[in-house]
Amino acid sequence: MESAARMSVLVVDDDPGMLETIGSLLASEYRVLVASSAESALALATTQPVDLILLDVIMPDMDGYALCGALKSHEGTREIPVIFVTAKSEQQFEAVGFELGGVDYITKPVNPAILRLRVRNHLELKRKSDQLRALSQRDGLTGLANRRRMDQMLEQEWRQAIRRGNSWLAVLLLDVDFFKLYNDHYGHQAGDECLRQVAMTLQSVLTRSTDLAARYGGEEFCCILPETPANGAVAVAEEIRNRIWHLAIPHARSTVADRVTVSIGVAAMRPVQTRTQLQLLEEADTLLYGAKQGGRNRSLAQATV
Ligand code: GH3
Ligand code: MG
Ligand code: MG
Repeated sequence: MESAARMSVLVVDDDPGMLETIGSLLASEYRVLVASSAESALALATTQPVDLILLDVIMPDMDGYALCGALKSHEGTREIPVIFVTAKSEQQFEAVGFELGGVDYITKPVNPAILRLRVRNHLELKRKSDQLRALSQRDGLTGLANRRRMDQMLEQEWRQAIRRGNSWLAVLLLDVDFFKLYNDHYGHQAGDECLRQVAMTLQSVLTRSTDLAARYGGEEFCCILPETPANGAVAVAEEIRNRIWHLAIPHARSTVADRVTVSIGVAAMRPVQTRTQLQLLEEADTLLYGAKQGGRNRSLAQATV
């Protein structure tokens, strides 16, 4: 297994000597990838994890600036910092590189010590911003995706389903039954532990890599199930409900069972331009309300064609 701390640097230059020089300066500390053209650099950056790019400005075909523009317009490569590597005579173009989103310049001939330090500094910043981004998307109590992340993902999946065409998207909204009474009876700490158990259960049921479980609010959770029609989503909801039942967490104040139970609204739609993902979410919320009214500890589903 690759060491978790080892970060990846992609060096792009049409001069093989330059690739060799820079590569050998960095290879002992980082995973070094090299590309001799902008096209192959783009192919690498979109398929491999890359933490920093050292980019030659002048190259035949697509130059460094054009490549930088392409990287910045691509969702998966936008966050990769780019350092331009340029000959002294090209210094008047530095502003162009910064305008395009470059973070720094290194001039040729490269000074080994300076190159290493600049790379180290930018990788440290990259590591910190990755950590912050991950934190800003996660719920502190349960470790699940938080609402912000869920909103982003739902919008993204909605658009993707429209692009695919004729594709189902399902959402589950789950709410713990009589949770206020649970807190009142067992205390807030126990309440928190209960929420963690529910979160772990969601995570254990959702096994497809494209599924997402999120904490939607206090004791409400949301699951996004791409390419899943209503019957599949109901199966997932019932599996979740069943596993939470079998956690057998005692709930003395519940009037529907001797243990913690959940109610789930299950909505499935075929995303189209004339609707939005908010309608899907509202639908799931209405169904959740229906499940509560219907006696709790149940799921209620609907598909909108
Ligand atoms: P219902 O069956 O209708 O869903 O009733 P309920 O009591 O579960 O619903 P209600 O919305 O009245 O109460 C939700 C409770 O969830 C209130 C709040 O104290 C509790 N809660 C929200 N967030 C947290 C949390 O992070 N930790 C704990 N322990 N409790 C929380
Ligand atoms: Mg609630
Ligand atoms: Mg509740």
